[in-house]
Amino acid sequence: MKYSEYSVVVIGSGAAGLYAALKTAQQIKLPEGVLLISKSSLGISNSRYAQGGIVGVVHQNPDDNIDLHIKDTLKAGAGLSNYKITEEISSASDAVINDLITNGVEFDRDENGNLTFTLEAAHSMRRILHSGGDATGKGITEGLIRAVKSNSAIHTLEKAMAVELLISSDKECKGVIIYNKQTEEHEIVYSSAVVIATGGTGQVYKYTTNPSGATGDGIALAYEAGAVIEDMEFIQFHPTALALSPDSQNRFLISEAVRGEGAKLINAKGEQFMSKYNDKLELAPRDVVTRAIFSEMAEEKSNNVYLDASLIGEEKILKRFPTITKKCMECGIDITKSPIPVAPAAHYTMGGIKAKVNGTTSIKGLYAIGEAACTELHGANRLASNSLLECVVCAYQLADYLSFTNLDTPKTIDEGIKKMIDVYSRSITGEEYDTTSLKSNLKNIMWENVGIIRTEDSLLKAQKEVEKQQKDFKRRRKCLNQREYEYRNMLTVASLIIKSALERKESRGAHCRSDYKQTNEIAKHSELSRDVQGVTIC
Ligand SMILES: Cc1cc2nc3c(=O)[nH]c(=O)nc-3n(C[C@H](O)[C@H](O)[C@H](O)COP(=O)(O)OP(=O)(O)OC[C@H]3O[C@@H](n4cnc5c(N)ncnc54)[C@H](O)[C@@H]3O)c2cc1C
Repeated sequence: MKYSEYSVVVIGSGAAGLYAALKTAQQIKLPEGVLLISKSSLGISNSRYAQGGIVGVVHQNPDDNIDLHIKDTLKAGAGLSNYKITEEISSASDAVINDLITNGVEFDRDENGNLTFTLEAAHSMRRILHSGGDATGKGITEGLIRAVKSNSAIHTLEKAMAVELLISSDKECKGVIIYNKQTEEHEIVYSSAVVIATGGTGQVYKYTTNPSGATGDGIALAYEAGAVIEDMEFIQFHPTALALSPDSQNRFLISEAVRGEGAKLINAKGEQFMSKYNDKLELAPRDVVTRAIFSEMAEEKSNNVYLDASLIGEEKILKRFPTITKKCMECGIDITKSPIPVAPAAHYTMGGIKAKVNGTTSIKGLYAIGEAACTELHGANRLASNSLLECVVCAYQLADYLSFTNLDTPKTIDEGIKKMIDVYSRSITGEEYDTTSLKSNLKNIMWENVGIIRTEDSLLKAQKEVEKQQKDFKRRRKCLNQREYEYRNMLTVASLIIKSALERKESRGAHCRSDYKQTNEIAKHSELSRDVQGVTIC
C-alpha cells in the first residue's frame, strides 16, 4: 500500500480543519509539513453553509463582555456547559476573531468601516459577527481556503476519506488509513498528530440542515479506536428549516438571525403562538422553540408552521438576508411578502469525542476539534453562533499546544498497526450494498424514535433495528467505497446516540423524554468508550 509521512494530519476542511492546518503551519516549523485531507472538495462542509454568524466578544464591541457571554452560554446549556471551558473559549475570542481578520476573513461592516453585530436567540446582546449578510460560513471558509492555498507547508488532498485510525499496541495514534476516491485505493498516512475535524452527525436523521457529508465519521473512527465519546444524546434540532414538502429531506436553514431581526412564527391558522410556550417568544432557546413548533404541528396535524419575515421590512430583509431571500425566491416564496413554511430538522451534535480546548483527547496523538469534539462548551443545548467560535478557538489553541509537542513522525511500526494495515491490503469480495435504501431506513428510524421527543419504548425499538442493520452489514472494517464507509459510520454514531439517550433518564436541553419529564437536580455528563461496557454517567 502507498504510504506517506507528515508532521500533522488534519482530517476535514470545514472551519475547524482549515484554521487548524493554517495555524499549525504558521506557528510551527514542521519538517514533514501538514496534510489536510477532506472527503469533499476543499471547504465543502457544514461550515460552508453557516448563515447567521459567529460569536465575537471582541474589543470592537465595548458594550459586550466575557461574563455576559458566559452567562448566556451556561443558561442555554441547561446545566451541562462547563464554566471554565466557556470562559476559556470566550476569553480567546477577541484574539482569534482578529487573527481571522488578519488572515483575510471579512466580516460585514457599516459605512464607517466598523464591524456590525446582530442578535440571535438567547443572546442578551448583539454580539454576532456576520459575513455577506447571511453567508458567514462561506465568508470564513473562502477566506481560510485562500490563506491555506498560499501556505506552502500545507499539502491538501481532496476526495480522500479517513477510514480507520492507526493505534499502536500502547494505545497511541500513529496515523490514519485513507480511502482515496480518485484512485479508488487505500493509503497509509503516518503521523504523530492526527486531528479529527470531521464535523457532526446530522445525516443520521431523515430531516437535517446538514449537507450529505455530515455522517459522523470522525466520531465513529475515534470510538472504534477506543477514545472516550461524550454526551451523544444531545442533538440540536433547529426550529426553522425550510419545509417545502415531507419529501424534502436535506433542508435549507432559515437562520435564527431572521427571528433575531423580528420575524414571527405563526401556525396554519395564521396565529402567533410562541407566547403560549415561553416569555422570550421567538428568541427563546432553540430547544424550546423546536418543541413549541413540534407541538403546534402535532396539534394541527400539519407538516410545518410558518415564519413571517415580512415584519422585518423589505429593505432590511434584502440587505441582511440575501442568501435566504434568493433561495426562497427560487422555491416560489417572496419572503418580503409571504410567510415561509418551516419545521424542525437535525442540526448540530453537541456531544462528540471528549476533548480539551486544545484538542487533546483520551488517546495520545489523537486530537479532536470543532463539531466532532465535545469540549462541554455547548452542554445540553448549543447557544446560536457559538459553534463556529468553538471551531476557530480550538484550532488556534491546538496549534499552540502542538508547538510544544514532539512532532517527529513514528520511527517504528508495531505489530498491532501492521495487523490493521493488513486488513486494508487484502481485497474484499461481494456485491456493493444498497446503501441508499439502507441509509434511508436508518434515517427514518432515528427521526421517528430518537428525535425531538423520546421514550424508553421508542429508544429500545430504534436500538433493536439499528443492531439488526449492523448485524446485516458485514463490513465492519474495510469497505468497497465511500458510500459503504459512511453507512458503517452512521450505524456506529446512531447506536452511540441511542445508548446515551436510553441512559439519560431525565429531560434536559435538547434531550426530551416524555417518560422522564423532570430535570434531575445534579447535571451529569454521559461517556461511552469501546473499552468500557455501557454508558458511564459522570
Ligand atoms: C446550515 C447550517 C447553518 C449553520 N449556521 C451556523 C451559524 O450561523 N453559526 C454557527 O456558529 N454555527 C452554525 N452552524 C453550525 C456550524 O456551521 C458547524 O458546527 C461548524 O461549521 C462545524 O465545523 P467543523 O469544521 O467542525 O465541521 P464541518 O464544517 O462540518 O467540516 C467537516 C469536514 O470534514 C470532512 N470530512 C468528514 N468526514 C471525513 C472523513 N472521514 N475523511 C475526510 N474528511 C472528512 C467534510 O468533508 C468537511 O470538509 C450551522 C450549521 C449548518 C448545517
